[in-house]
Amino acid sequence: MAVSKTDFVRGLQCEKMLWLDAHEPEHKIIPPEVQARLDAGNEFGDKAMSLFGEFLESTTFRDDGRLDFAAMLAKTKTWLENGENVVCEGAFSWYGNYCAADILKKDGAGYALYEVKNAYAARQEFITDLGFQRLILRKCGVYVTASKLVLRGDEPPTELPLPETENERAEYLEKDGFRYKIVDVTAAAKQAERVASIRIFELGKLKKKETPQPDIAVGEQCLKPYACWYYDYCHKK
Ligand code: SF4
Repeated sequence: MAVSKTDFVRGLQCEKMLWLDAHEPEHKIIPPEVQARLDAGNEFGDKAMSLFGEFLESTTFRDDGRLDFAAMLAKTKTWLENGENVVCEGAFSWYGNYCAADILKKDGAGYALYEVKNAYAARQEFITDLGFQRLILRKCGVYVTASKLVLRGDEPPTELPLPETENERAEYLEKDGFRYKIVDVTAAAKQAERVASIRIFELGKLKKKETPQPDIAVGEQCLKPYACWYYDYCHKK
């Protein structure tokens, strides 16, 4: 695989992080609290699949337990050609660059793209993620009518200063006793798509190149927007 959406978001945070993921992942340390957050995010994502009622999910595993990308790509292609109403984890590949879209909902002649995040407010890294997906989907011939975030709509544990504009654009949906907040970020995602189209092949080359390890000094990027899993490795050096 060339660049996945995870690779892309991580590579934008720090190119060395992307390179280490590809060539020396043994240095990675995922703190238990971060793993717990990732697991909670996956659970939230699974729950949100039924947000719009019945859905088809493309996730397929091979006998060895790994994802069967070829089967996922084929299923997604068929379902979109058939005009299915809701497709979850729809898989797309363009020049080996890959993404799975959390939710695609039929919207007129195209599909609205939804990215699910277990968070109370939109963040730039979520938009970056959507921009990458928009690029791959559109290159695969999908007419993307809108780009939206599905966030938590329940009461945050503490008062969070949400941007006023975000609240203005938010709509709330209740499903199975849970409240979701949907934020339309189409304009920002289009901008992010332009960035993705510029950086995608450069990051692909970096990921593939075995040596040398990128010479990047530790800095602010080690904690923002996400605490880096190679923090100990780089800071010890
Ligand atoms: S610790 Fe910092 S320099 Fe090292 S890979 Fe992570 S973000 Fe990059």
